[in-house]
Amino acid sequence: MAKKNNKKYIFVVGGVMSGVGKGITTSSIGNLMQSRGFSVTALKVDPYINVDAGTMNPTEHGEVFVLNDGDETDQDMGNYERFMNITLPHTNYMTTGRVYQSVIERERKGGYRGKCVEVVPHIPLEIIDRIEKASKKEDAEISIIEIGGTIGEYQNILFLEAARMMKSKRPDDVLFVLVSYVPLPSKVGEMKTKPTQYASRTLNGAGIQADIIVARSEVALDDKRKEKIAWSCSVDKKSVISAPDVESIYHVPLNFEKDNLSNIILKKLGLRARTRDNAKWEKFTKKVETAKKPLKIGIVGKYFETGDFVLSDAYISVIEALKHASYYNGCKPELAWLDSVKYETDKKSLEELKDYDGIVVPGGFGSRGIEGKINVAQYCRENKIPYFGLCYGMQIAVIEFARNVAGIKGAQTAEIDDTAKHCVIDIMPEQKEKLKKKDFGGSMRLGAYPANIVKDTIARTAYKKAEISERHRHRYEVNPEYIKQIEDAGLVFSGKSPDGVLMEIAELPKNKHPFYLATQFHPEFQSAPLNPHPLFMAFVKASKK
Ligand code: GLN
Repeated sequence: MAKKNNKKYIFVVGGVMSGVGKGITTSSIGNLMQSRGFSVTALKVDPYINVDAGTMNPTEHGEVFVLNDGDETDQDMGNYERFMNITLPHTNYMTTGRVYQSVIERERKGGYRGKCVEVVPHIPLEIIDRIEKASKKEDAEISIIEIGGTIGEYQNILFLEAARMMKSKRPDDVLFVLVSYVPLPSKVGEMKTKPTQYASRTLNGAGIQADIIVARSEVALDDKRKEKIAWSCSVDKKSVISAPDVESIYHVPLNFEKDNLSNIILKKLGLRARTRDNAKWEKFTKKVETAKKPLKIGIVGKYFETGDFVLSDAYISVIEALKHASYYNGCKPELAWLDSVKYETDKKSLEELKDYDGIVVPGGFGSRGIEGKINVAQYCRENKIPYFGLCYGMQIAVIEFARNVAGIKGAQTAEIDDTAKHCVIDIMPEQKEKLKKKDFGGSMRLGAYPANIVKDTIARTAYKKAEISERHRHRYEVNPEYIKQIEDAGLVFSGKSPDGVLMEIAELPKNKHPFYLATQFHPEFQSAPLNPHPLFMAFVKASKK
């Protein structure tokens, strides 16, 4: 029997293919363990060499999720925060690059005392050390660790080795959950368990036996399939959990409970439940079910086209934040991806913006599509269409306003043309230095910063408070030299850094526009089902009208 106060570790690994929902499974297990009265944290380990996700193209890798402490991480970290209503530190995220970097640094400092430093065991030992430290730092009774990638890849083998070592050292405290895909080929007409059998066997090859198998499929598994997976993969039948497609990702924890998942986990870990209370979460899922009024929101971006497939992963936090606020307002969001490039060449197409209840211009980088976004901002401003700009979306609104209302001809951002006469969006001196030195990784203005909210503004009504803290990820800022001119023309900077130098929120007064507001920060990173973001709430409310 496990010792009572031992910390527990649940590893979540994926079989058959990527995208089957390891992240949502990890988040849902976290949510359920909380509902049984435990303090829980979650970690993501990513197999790539990049030290963080900041330097990766979101069309390839999905959103870069920024933590409070400024770490640029994988989008799954966002899921953990949203499902568990917690904030996570950088210590809960690691990549192969990060692990090697610390091993090499320690070696250079003589930290291995003359030993030959080897891939095994030193890399897995570093991984274990990081997991244990994160668990301690978060004071978590249960830590859930999602291993990125799919079983059978070369890439994640050292992470699996670390997990195996942990299990062999403390068998009662470590649990393995294999999330696998069970296809239902339409021509065959029955569910096929073979890919899962192979995944389980490949996992065995890494010295690991799954304790629980979460079987992702279109519909719930029948008894026969559960039996087959159970005996072929050496798990008991009760531990084969159905994970069929559900109405929303937020229903997944409740659906797992239909197969008794939390009890199974607690029993296997030798823990006794303290409560069973997920009432708030259940209440939220009821809102999802009853939200009826369609709300058409257009998201103007350029990241979507990836071959024949549209990758909305690049904006996942924006999408989820819109959903949270919509459900709280009784609305069913219908999100449309609008390609900013089109609005550059085909101005007539701007008229289609009238078909939407609201427009979001999210974060972005670089020149492609920017003039299209500026046209969108102008069209929304002039036609009183609710506009919500996030980061680049605020810079764009400021450029548009400067050019077309404040009369600053050729207003520009230094990101596109630093020789422009009027860079109303400019780079801060310390950022300039970084770019000069080609110091690109983790060097933007990152993470949570405080801001003060001006009285009698839309922002203040929404936040209901004067001081806020929001997460950032950008290099450029509103140029202080132009603030007065822009404000005099009627744009209100309703949020500012405590020293008053950096503009954090821009808005048009209520009597001028139903909702025209933009933020230099990324409010989407702090929205959660149990904590919908006030600005998203205000935007949805205005759009609903
Ligand atoms: N490209 C802009 C900057 O770096 C905006 C960044 C963003 O939207 N996250 O300032």
